[in-house]
Amino acid sequence: MPLDLALTSDQEQLVATVRDFCAREFAPTIQANDRAGRHDPEIFAKLASIGLPGVCFPQRYGGHGLDYLSLGLVCEELEYVDTVYRTVLSVHVGLVGMGLYTWATEEQKQQWLVPMATGQKLACYGLTEPNAGSDAASMLSTARRSGGGYVLNGQKVWVSDADTADFLLVFAKTDPKAGSRGVSAFMLDRAACGKALRTEPIEDRLGIRAGDVGSIFMTDVEVPEANRIGDEGDGFKIAMSCLDNGRYTVAAGATGTVRACVDASVKYARERKTFGQEIGRYQLIQQMIAHMSRDYEICRMLYFKVAWMKNTGLRHTRDVSMAKQYATDAAFNAAHDAIEVHGAYGYSAEYPVERFLRNARAPIIYEGTREVHTILQGEYALGYREDRPVKKSLPPYVADR
Ligand SMILES: Cc1cc2nc3c(=O)[nH]c(=O)nc-3n(C[C@H](O)[C@H](O)[C@H](O)COP(=O)(O)OP(=O)(O)OC[C@H]3O[C@@H](n4cnc5c(N)ncnc54)[C@H](O)[C@@H]3O)c2cc1C
Repeated sequence: MPLDLALTSDQEQLVATVRDFCAREFAPTIQANDRAGRHDPEIFAKLASIGLPGVCFPQRYGGHGLDYLSLGLVCEELEYVDTVYRTVLSVHVGLVGMGLYTWATEEQKQQWLVPMATGQKLACYGLTEPNAGSDAASMLSTARRSGGGYVLNGQKVWVSDADTADFLLVFAKTDPKAGSRGVSAFMLDRAACGKALRTEPIEDRLGIRAGDVGSIFMTDVEVPEANRIGDEGDGFKIAMSCLDNGRYTVAAGATGTVRACVDASVKYARERKTFGQEIGRYQLIQQMIAHMSRDYEICRMLYFKVAWMKNTGLRHTRDVSMAKQYATDAAFNAAHDAIEVHGAYGYSAEYPVERFLRNARAPIIYEGTREVHTILQGEYALGYREDRPVKKSLPPYVADR
């Protein structure tokens, strides 16, 4: 197949639609919402109004049948305005929706994926616990067999959209002695769980302040067996395969932050004058902008490669880890330099670049910290780790589906 990096007309139209929508619906209010730490409960409904929750799912599951690059392009556009919009889509589509598309039975896809793809229900992904983040397999949440189903107990923390989601994909141990092989995955419907399921937001965060991040408390949550995704003991594999999709959206989103930093820095460097000329004329300012521009191209190529691997059905755990790690570091570095280009004004809320810096910190931590990805990349390079065939993988893109 010839190498072709040009966007299709559908993809170009999608980018233009999302860019225009974000400029109208999100850009005017984000700075004030971020300052106030105010979560706009309408974010998901707005994303749904232009069909984004179904962007890359087949039409038979309520989607629009576009390819996986289209999802990345959307994430880049959303995070160009603010990380919060991309986060909602990352979790809903990347972590949960694509996980269900890969692992759920046909009946489960109809029950859970269709209302998600059509934008009727918002989903979150609960893996992390107070004492189990990078070492997720050491989770303490349990799912005990009871009658025809399970009873879940435990706590999840740092879950994006925990307090607003209708559906919750949670991981708990069905066999606490079996380590990662003892984890199973369950879909919870908040409406069906009653008081046994409680969520609360985590306040006063450094960045993504217009977002919802919270804790999940499960106290004897009863779920039917039909809510278990995959077999008993598949949960850890499912969690990791979900992360292959989530990390892709994080990488593409961070690429949008880098582009936002380039644009803000170029604009300011052409306006601000010192010593009688535009600061853009100084080579040290040019150097910062040159590095950001270079990183933008590298980040884009890294996520385009992953998109191609997803479209063709190739396993891409190594590649998506690299793309996620590189892009999130690049976004933080670009925001740091963008503040420098703006001088003292970059340090104030008058310009968006300080928000970009604060927002860029969490993506370095979530979906695998910088250290976790460095270890993965080192092990792949040294031959201590390799991507082997998996039990189930994301279906490749098929046109006209
Ligand atoms: C804004 C935000 C949103 C999030 N959203 C979600 C979500 O939707 N769902 C969800 O499940 N989780 C979510 N998380 C949680 C996130 O995935 C975890 O915070 C992350 O995996 C790290 O876990 P931890 O915080 O427990 O840190 P730890 O695992 O305790 O790590 C602490 C430090 O030790 C380092 N470290 C750990 N192990 C090693 C090692 N073997 N070698 C070297 N260094 C090591 C880490 O890199 C880090 O620097 C979110 C987090 C944030 C900040």
